[in-house]
Amino acid sequence: MIAVRDLRIRLGGALIVDGVELDVADGEWVTIIGPNGAGKSTVLRAVGGLVPYEGSIALGDTALDRLTRRERARTLATVAQSPVVPPAMLVYDYVLLGRSPHIPPLGRESASDLAQVDEVLAVLDLEAFAGRRLETLSGGERQRVFLARALAQEARILLLDEPTSALDIGHQQEVLELVDRLRAERGLTVLATMHDLTTAGEYADRMVLLSGGRVVAKGTAREVLTAELLARHYRVRVRVIDGEHGPLVVPVRR
Ligand code: ADP
Ligand code: MG
Repeated sequence: MIAVRDLRIRLGGALIVDGVELDVADGEWVTIIGPNGAGKSTVLRAVGGLVPYEGSIALGDTALDRLTRRERARTLATVAQSPVVPPAMLVYDYVLLGRSPHIPPLGRESASDLAQVDEVLAVLDLEAFAGRRLETLSGGERQRVFLARALAQEARILLLDEPTSALDIGHQQEVLELVDRLRAERGLTVLATMHDLTTAGEYADRMVLLSGGRVVAKGTAREVLTAELLARHYRVRVRVIDGEHGPLVVPVRR
């Protein structure tokens, strides 16, 4: 569903992403991990068509750069690491923005667009917030609204850049379980980045470890979340314990 080949991205004169290869199968959940500045967000932004790149990115049978903006928005929905919040915008209207790629140019939203927004608000338990201004919501509530907008877009591919970093562990689990449920129900393909390694491993089918703009390891959580790889690339001492849904990564003082 997503095929990235020899991806190279230059920003401000520096090679930030250097020869990245990445595949995400239809319906699969792949999570990119890696230290701060490794290039995780940049790779995700490239797949979302938001940053110029060299190499190739294909979505299904189509090269990303052959899609129009509108086609792209119908194919993939992004939740950015810190989305810009339009001032004074109501939650309902913000989620409705997700329907834009389905509304004809110069046209108005249809009853089915509004029904889709209502459904997504219900699924994410956000109905009570529909009439609130976005900036009055807590970080966690807002994060659910960002996700709602992406889901309202009804794209087959979901790009999530640290979707749970602003959330307490309860809401983290709730959001990730929800994404996983929707993935099963709607057949979504998920490419995410995440900081919490244990959680990342529990939800991903496969993981990619990025360091200095290069893929340094890829595979199942068990293959990627090893004390040795994490020590080398994060300069951290951890204990990796066998868990119910994958390895539990516990930092240990040196
Ligand atoms: P991550 O998400 O893994 O923390 P990013 O993809 O956000 O990392 O950034 C990777 C590197 O690219 C960082 O060193 C960052 O400073 C650099 N970078 C990001 N945007 C720009 C830019 N516009 N100009 C120059 N460097 C940038
Ligand atoms: Mg990032």
